Amino acid sequence: MIIHSHFDVNEKGHLTIGGVDTVDLANEFGTPAYILDENVIRENCRTYRRAAAEYFGEDALPLYASKALCFTGIYKIAAQEGMGVDCVSGGELYTAKKAGFPAEKIYFHGNNKTDKDIRDAMDMGVGTFVVDNHEELCAISKEAKKRGITQRILLRITPGIDPHTHRAVVTGNVDSKFGNPIVTGQAMEIVKAALQTEGVHLVGLHCHIGSQIFDLEPFSDAASIMVRFIADIKRECGFEVEELNLGGGFGVRYTEYDREIDYASSIRDIASIVTGFCKENDISMPRVILEPGRSLVAAAGITLYTVGSVKEIPGFRTYVSVDGGMPDNPRYALYQSQYTAVIANKANQAKDQRVTIAGRCCESGDLLGENMELQSAERGDILAVLVTGAYNYSMASNYNRLPRPPIVMVKDGKARIAVKRETYEDITANDVL
Ligand SMILES: *Cc1c(COP(=O)(O)O)cnc(C)c1O
Repeated sequence: MIIHSHFDVNEKGHLTIGGVDTVDLANEFGTPAYILDENVIRENCRTYRRAAAEYFGEDALPLYASKALCFTGIYKIAAQEGMGVDCVSGGELYTAKKAGFPAEKIYFHGNNKTDKDIRDAMDMGVGTFVVDNHEELCAISKEAKKRGITQRILLRITPGIDPHTHRAVVTGNVDSKFGNPIVTGQAMEIVKAALQTEGVHLVGLHCHIGSQIFDLEPFSDAASIMVRFIADIKRECGFEVEELNLGGGFGVRYTEYDREIDYASSIRDIASIVTGFCKENDISMPRVILEPGRSLVAAAGITLYTVGSVKEIPGFRTYVSVDGGMPDNPRYALYQSQYTAVIANKANQAKDQRVTIAGRCCESGDLLGENMELQSAERGDILAVLVTGAYNYSMASNYNRLPRPPIVMVKDGKARIAVKRETYEDITANDVL
């Protein structure tokens, strides 16, 4: 096992994912390529579904936050596993629709839904809009009234938590482009406005405090603030919130320095905290919605590359260059995100080098990691970067006109293409002049 139990080394000394030899995968599908272990995604869905039902009750629903990894196949898996999904754009909604995902189980997010987005979502019959601001509330109301429908909505609320300072810092995330802060009074204002707006049916509140969070405290702080706010709403408006969406954010193990979170027991702990707060504040327990993204798909994925050059700059560092980079994984360039890398065809050898892994773009910042432990690399080796299932393909670009890699899914020892490799024709398809 390397970092996660579905990554292992076989008798040839090759890295495996879900029991499949990654060197064989590189030979069959080419590089760069994203590989996903389908069983891991399905198992994660089941863990969330089971834990949500057991600890929050049968009506609780986990949504897959589809921005983490979006293509038709993932919506089919989410539908089969009984998940809802959240979408944040017209493109994600379209992909969900194309996959046949049940529209009533879609929550539509985003801080700037266009009129077209709103019309398209209503055409599709999207179940719930998560309303970010007053202008949007009016635009949704107007479109709903025109159609003679009542649109189910939640309101996005900013509880004011900075998850990475581990405290409810009421100034922390109040300064956000998302949602309506409680401390400034704006949250209560939009609740009152929504209750008086025709064409919408306010069912509850949403909050999402951040991502890659390993501690329980930010979640319990957020829950306590939200429950107190729900009690305030009941007192001031006589309105009982039916649904509380607590967002996503559970952390994922990327390197051996990260802890592994037991999602089921985290959900149990959050549920007991929410239940306690509800009793304390004398409100009935709302239906709880969760929105995991990263924690459902990140660990399921790896990216395979071919090593092109190994360049040692004496006194400085060694660059290992691969046939991908920031276009397929911009996370190191954006956030210095840490990853684990393995030479897939030398996975049984010791990691005796410290290297910088560079991509192939004309840009010095095009790195996949620095100071990374790695087996000694040479041209032709297959390099695997682990835990790339989330926010890699979904953030991929065509910078330097590099085609996006395919997504290959492995399941029960077999591999199949889920998303084809882009071609140069695909990249130029919209060029008119
Ligand atoms: C990004 C996002 C999520 C998922 O966050 P993860 O950290 O990937 O679990 C859930 N809800 C909303 C509104 C988001 O923006």
